[in-house]
Amino acid sequence: MEAAFSELKSRLGKLTDLRRMEALLVWDMQVFMPPGGVPTRAAQLGTLEEIVHAHMVDDRFGELFEELEPYAASLAYDSDDASLIRVAQRDWERARRVPADLAVEFAKVAAESYEVWVTAREDSDFAPFRPWLERVVDLRRQYIECFAPYDDPYDVLLEDYEPGMRTSEIREIFAVLAPELQSLVAEQATEEEDPFLDGPFPIGAQEALSRELVEAMGATWDQFRLDPTVHPFEITFGLGDIRLTTRYSESELNSLFTAMHETGHGLYEWGVSKTLERTPLAAGVSATLHESQSRLWENVVGRSLPFWRWFYPRVQETFPGRLGDVSLEQFHRAVNRVRRSFVRVDADETSYGLHVILRFELEEELLSGRLAVADLPDAWNTRFEELMGIPVPNDAVGVLQDAHWSGGGFGYFPTYLLGTVLSIQIWERARAAIPGIDEQIERGEFGELHHWLRENIYSLGRKLTPAETIERVVGGPIDPQPYLAYLRDKFELFATV
Ligand code: ZN
Repeated sequence: MEAAFSELKSRLGKLTDLRRMEALLVWDMQVFMPPGGVPTRAAQLGTLEEIVHAHMVDDRFGELFEELEPYAASLAYDSDDASLIRVAQRDWERARRVPADLAVEFAKVAAESYEVWVTAREDSDFAPFRPWLERVVDLRRQYIECFAPYDDPYDVLLEDYEPGMRTSEIREIFAVLAPELQSLVAEQATEEEDPFLDGPFPIGAQEALSRELVEAMGATWDQFRLDPTVHPFEITFGLGDIRLTTRYSESELNSLFTAMHETGHGLYEWGVSKTLERTPLAAGVSATLHESQSRLWENVVGRSLPFWRWFYPRVQETFPGRLGDVSLEQFHRAVNRVRRSFVRVDADETSYGLHVILRFELEEELLSGRLAVADLPDAWNTRFEELMGIPVPNDAVGVLQDAHWSGGGFGYFPTYLLGTVLSIQIWERARAAIPGIDEQIERGEFGELHHWLRENIYSLGRKLTPAETIERVVGGPIDPQPYLAYLRDKFELFATV
């Protein structure tokens, strides 16, 4: 038994090493690599993926799991060892459903399709991208068939990002959100400009402010890095090696929110119990839980009045020419404006959900075969106008705006909105548990909040399922009502100013 468990741990440790080497190649590719590295890096990633896949599906795991069954049964469900055996077995069984040649072909097509998408978006021309997207959708359908029988084809893709979540649950939650968000946008959307937010804000100064925020949230530079990139993300090479990326533009201050968002992801991974290091449990449990953390820090904390009471003076003294005569209230309002906009990543907290709902609906139709790729741009434009109330001017800010579909990332979008919704439920629990949290935030003290999140969510890693993790933290399933109430409260605050 002991020998079997230590062999399992050793194999999973090596697998974790390999996965993190892949992550390192991806991080370098997106942050530092010169463009000339594309073809060789693609080959390196392909080779590594083949090695990883071979390790993952090894028959030996099956023997080990069988041998370890009585040991797992003798342990508490949420103990480190029982969780490791259970989760590793689930990962192994899932990986074995997919033939290696399908996985390799998908990775190759996705990488090439991404390159075509980059140009198509630049030219705002869907036509050259269309055959690639058709191939990607076809390969995703083949992937789905590996998991037959299933209730809903979309469930299969969802499982990769949000294990255990069903498409029908998302439909139910989004059916509540869509009309409510539409009417909130109709009520609150403004075209009033806040020209003081248009810069110029020198990039060096923005970087210094971003670093201050990362530090204030509790991250330390001996275990974190922050580097500029085109599409910001967070990636983990070890529980003591967290990489954040961000982007700066002279003409806006969004970098401050991006820094808080990515730090939220980073704190989550950083906070996983060190006893889980070098195992597949040493990561956030799902995309929704991850996004609940990035959004909690970026929006719930980072767009609140207490937060700006603390940080606005710092921003103001950094950019006295632009913000010297802008009041705290004006600034706080400006970073909370609701606007009808085309591009998801620029959207405010309220209209953001409508962008996600649009993508979820179209993905479902594409994968079920009810919508052909050729008809996707029209379907996008029609549905976008229904939801947002403005016509889409071109495909670059329409159907071509996101990278996700080019890489076959269907099933990911809904987790952005689910995470946003969940962030409010988690915030309410944290608030109830930490008296004086607003006053702490007003002083720039985030230690107690960080500690509470670490104890209640981060430390668990992937030990429990997402649903079990959520149940344990908020006492029930994902519920859209607290999120809607949070938005209404915020608008009430502005109405009384
Ligand atoms: Zn995120």
